[in-house]
Amino acid sequence: MIDVDERATPFIRRLCNEYNVHVSIRFSYTVPHKVGNWIHLPAHYHDERLNWSFCHELSHILLNHDENSFPSNQEEEEANLLASELILPKCHFQSVSHLRLTELKSIFYHCSYEVLLRRKSQFQVGVATIIDEGRITFRNGHPSLRYPLFPTHEEWKIICKTARYGNHLFTVMDSFRLESVYLERNGFRRVLLWTEPTTDFFIS
Ligand SMILES: [Zn+2]
Repeated sequence: MIDVDERATPFIRRLCNEYNVHVSIRFSYTVPHKVGNWIHLPAHYHDERLNWSFCHELSHILLNHDENSFPSNQEEEEANLLASELILPKCHFQSVSHLRLTELKSIFYHCSYEVLLRRKSQFQVGVATIIDEGRITFRNGHPSLRYPLFPTHEEWKIICKTARYGNHLFTVMDSFRLESVYLERNGFRRVLLWTEPTTDFFIS
């Protein structure tokens, strides 16, 4: 009998049954963790974050990572890699990964925009950038691309415009397409940007 917390999302419920794991969600938990085949998640997390954290902890279980020692960087990377497959299986995601982020969100609404953006960059040739309160916290491009470490002037223009008006934007320029998503939670502002070359402008 699988023990599933009543706060669990339908997505978490399905995976609990599929992988025979239990989940409890409590306000007293400050960080997600696992004990045996139990996954413990903080109740103050919103649904998208619960879903991702659940997949991350489930990955530690499936990869047989030792719960009595602090996970190594390599174990964390392995868990993130498997978690991205659990939350967005390649067989469902790859064929639609060219769609805009807002379209992907309407299909895979159990995922955060960040998860969608990172997963998209594994299949599509482009650069994913995340800006939190005006600071770059993530920028990663497809391995086949040579791209600048920091956003270009054109990318910054879109980032600033997105933050100023609080809107999602989609812009087609001479050599690339840009899609930005604006998010605000508890007064914390985040812009996600997907930059996709339409010519070999970026490519080495
Ligand atoms: Zn971990």
